[in-house]
Amino acid sequence: MTDDTLIEPSEGPAFAVRCPDGASEIVLICEHASKTMPKALGTMGLDAVKLASHIAWDIGAQRVAEMLSDRLDATLVSQRFSRLAYDCNRPPEAAGAYPERSEIYDVPGNAGLSASDKARRADALYHPFHQAIEDLLDERLAAGRNVVLVTVHSFTPIYFGTRRDGYLGILHDDDSRLADAMLEAAATLELEQVLRNYPYGPEDGVTHTLQRHGLTRQIANVMLEIRNDLIIDEAGQSIWADRVAKLLEMSLAQLNGEGKA
Ligand SMILES: [Zn+2]
Repeated sequence: MTDDTLIEPSEGPAFAVRCPDGASEIVLICEHASKTMPKALGTMGLDAVKLASHIAWDIGAQRVAEMLSDRLDATLVSQRFSRLAYDCNRPPEAAGAYPERSEIYDVPGNAGLSASDKARRADALYHPFHQAIEDLLDERLAAGRNVVLVTVHSFTPIYFGTRRDGYLGILHDDDSRLADAMLEAAATLELEQVLRNYPYGPEDGVTHTLQRHGLTRQIANVMLEIRNDLIIDEAGQSIWADRVAKLLEMSLAQLNGEGKA
């Protein structure tokens, strides 16, 4: 590999921002929004079925995040390329940023990457995306605005051959304020299968975005994981956007009412 850039200008920027002037204190992030591969990486040795599967992106997550953005008047920052090229919920030093294996599938295009290959991926995809988030958060905090970070993901219903029954995972790292409030709200609404740190938790290395942007700034933060078979179509996406919006509104009312957000 050379040190040229990974993405051609015609492929557009690494990230997209929806509702940049959103009035909500919530900032939405979708790291696994897209299955688009940078042209320079080709198919990475994967067939079309795998390139469209959950190993390439979080199916349905971007649409739910867009609907949440619209319902809440919240800014949404989304990665525009596949997590197979770079998993933006992992730091550049993590092997998982360039997964050689994802669930039960090998990813030949990520086998044996050199340090310069990794740097090229990170420079094109990770750094601009996270810098955009940093700039947005810091600008709002400097303006005296309240800021809350919410990342939106989806998970596959069958993982390593085992069925997952949960509908919505509410994940947190050391700061559980928002997660606690959302779980309480879910209990109040009698929503079934809403689970803490499910189907993963901080021990699985999935809280990088929360750590980098939420914990460092001491702003309330949460990672949401919705089972992807529930949000494969517009109807399901709309139902879950409504539910999550309601949970977030109830939770923020509680946190702000207690003056802790
Ligand atoms: Zn994800």
